[in-house]
Amino acid sequence: MPRRPPTAVDQYEALATVLRLVRRNRARTRPELGAVALLGRTVISQRVEEAMELGLLEDADTGPSSGGRAPRRLRFRSEEGLVLSAVLGAAALDVAVTDLDGGVLEHRHLEWPVARGPEETLDFLDGQFAGLLKGCDAARLWAVVIGLPGPVEFATGRPSQPPIMPGWDGYDLRGRLQDRYGVPAWIDNDANLLALGEAWTTGLDDDRHMIYVKAGTGIGAGIVSGGRIHRGSKGSAGDIGHARVLEDSSVMCRCGRTGCLEALAGGWALARDAVTAVHEGRSRFLADIHRAAGEITPADIGLGAAAGDPWCLTAVARAGERIGSLMAALVNFYNPDCLVFGGGAVTGADTFLRVVDHTVRSRALPLASADLIVRASAAGETGGVVGGAHLAVEALLSADALAAWAPYGKPSAVEPARLVGGA
Ligand SMILES: [Zn+2]
Repeated sequence: MPRRPPTAVDQYEALATVLRLVRRNRARTRPELGAVALLGRTVISQRVEEAMELGLLEDADTGPSSGGRAPRRLRFRSEEGLVLSAVLGAAALDVAVTDLDGGVLEHRHLEWPVARGPEETLDFLDGQFAGLLKGCDAARLWAVVIGLPGPVEFATGRPSQPPIMPGWDGYDLRGRLQDRYGVPAWIDNDANLLALGEAWTTGLDDDRHMIYVKAGTGIGAGIVSGGRIHRGSKGSAGDIGHARVLEDSSVMCRCGRTGCLEALAGGWALARDAVTAVHEGRSRFLADIHRAAGEITPADIGLGAAAGDPWCLTAVARAGERIGSLMAALVNFYNPDCLVFGGGAVTGADTFLRVVDHTVRSRALPLASADLIVRASAAGETGGVVGGAHLAVEALLSADALAAWAPYGKPSAVEPARLVGGA
């Protein structure tokens, strides 16, 4: 069969490969790129040249020599672009501006109730984004990414019947952001962004599989496999909070059904039970907080557990067992290398992680749980916004996206709709 001449698609496949390998530190010099990517010397040098013209690579220091002249190391120029990233929770949000490596240039954690609806929330975000871009070169903006605490149809970037977000169902968030900022926008579930941020922060290898469980006010999970988020058909993969875990339960959930995991083990459910416990005189620790603050938050229960309050310890342990029980089934089903817990409310308590670990190991198949790592998140409070930045940058450095924007020099030079397909 005659050799097919190289096409534009091959050219951008090679460019995407070169950028990915340098960006992920898998290859640092032109000879290393050739060896790892299995591409010829001419192709490598042409693609490196092209990446340099785009401002994405530059020659840095000299690498180790294998005999002759030592090759120059390549550096990914993360400062070439900016990403605006926000992750919304029920009562607070994180906003940040990052570089193309997910490096946080500025981050803010702010109180904001998501129930105020999309218009007010987006106006608020516009103000925050403008503040974050002050002092930056706004012409370098590559993308805007938003994480939401509810189901998102990924292909359209629209929330889908989110239980705690009145007024957001079906809202064209992507259209609104792309009109406003003139760059591609991605909308995703918050747990997916947290999972991706965790994977990048901890250097999760591409052949590893992780389930990240966000157990905060609500409960959700994100799956990272082969270096990418597994979203399933529509984007709802990992949405475990409303799995029914108790058949004969009369405990009402925020979604309107009964017996959901979240209604029994979510932070809001623990806070609800805590108020009852206070009225029944079962927790001195929480009674003091209730008297002073007029309410009890999920975080207070974590504090109570750390302080050794018996009711809080029991509540956290019970939540750990319920979550661990469902995770044991998911470990059997998905066989991840690691289970990571974050989200704040109770996941920081030693008791929680110990009970989850024990429950998963005693109920999952030996083969699935033998080398399983169960641990707390290491990404910290910027994990979600960092994940958002990586989501956008990975998408914009894919072969399809590069083919669309590289001839024009930067992503903002082309119609955003042409770039949002490749995440
Ligand atoms: Zn529910």
